[in-house]
Amino acid sequence: CKQTSPQTAMESHIHMHDDARKSPANRLRGKVAVITGGARGIGAATAILFAENGANVVIADILDDLGTSLAYSIGGKYIHCDVSKEDDVESAINLALAWKGKLDIMFNNAGVSGPDGSITNLDMEKTKQVFSVNVNGNLHGIKHASKVMIEGQNGGCIICTASSAAVVGGLGSHPYTLSKGAIIGLMKSTACELGVHGIRVNCISPHGVPSEMLVSAYRRILGKEDMQPEEVGKIIGERGSLLRGRYASVEDVAQAALFLASEESGFITAHNLVIDGGYTSANNNMA
Ligand code: NAD
Repeated sequence: CKQTSPQTAMESHIHMHDDARKSPANRLRGKVAVITGGARGIGAATAILFAENGANVVIADILDDLGTSLAYSIGGKYIHCDVSKEDDVESAINLALAWKGKLDIMFNNAGVSGPDGSITNLDMEKTKQVFSVNVNGNLHGIKHASKVMIEGQNGGCIICTASSAAVVGGLGSHPYTLSKGAIIGLMKSTACELGVHGIRVNCISPHGVPSEMLVSAYRRILGKEDMQPEEVGKIIGERGSLLRGRYASVEDVAQAALFLASEESGFITAHNLVIDGGYTSANNNMA
């Protein structure tokens, strides 16, 4: 049996994905989606994939230049929206309603990492800031999206973003872990209430995508200011994935979001879909 080198495996994955992206299936034809944190990283990849599949996408972020140009390139809309502010999230949803008259998909993706360090020195102020984005951001999104979905009586789909850090210990910071665990609990409790209205609520839990957020966390923790995404990917590929040499791309996560947003997952609700190369199901010593 021929052994594929990690590098080759990674390259073939990237090419495989490129091919998949060339043939969009219009799985979200005519749907209207709001994506928070959609200006870069996982959110941006999802905005592109949703639009390629026929969705009308509103990008809600605080990175105005990136968000505006991405929205333009995919025929969508951009709105400045700090998800920690309830009014901002409501305005993003109102923009979707004013534009297309409905909301089908709410992707609560915006998130921040940190603060790092021991529980014994926990910085409560920074902890509150992480909570205001990660927990309140999801809460605001579910609250206002479900309101308009219930009024529209067409059902809908809400996707929240947790993390592998909420599933196994020792990944990321304590406040980050706590915030992501809270999101899984919130997803389940709201799925119980909203199912009767035909609204599905699910979570995705990515692991080890060398996005801006993860790379800057590695730089902080390892004290290597010039660390590049490829280096972080290499570490994850070697130690944080059962698929040796392979780490998650933003598109891997976007494909999971597309599945949960589409009718193919029509009977799936209250589920946390982990995109982790098997990491959270293995013991920590994968050598
Ligand atoms: P990223 O930093 O590239 O993207 C995060 C996006 O959220 C950015 O566009 C940023 O501007 C936006 N954002 C941050 N604060 C915001 C706020 N207050 N209001 C609105 N937008 C805000 O990182 P990413 O890896 O693409 O992260 C996306 C989500 O995936 C996050 O919720 C993150 O916790 C989660 N996640 C990522 C990984 C990973 O390995 N990268 C793993 C698990 C979970």
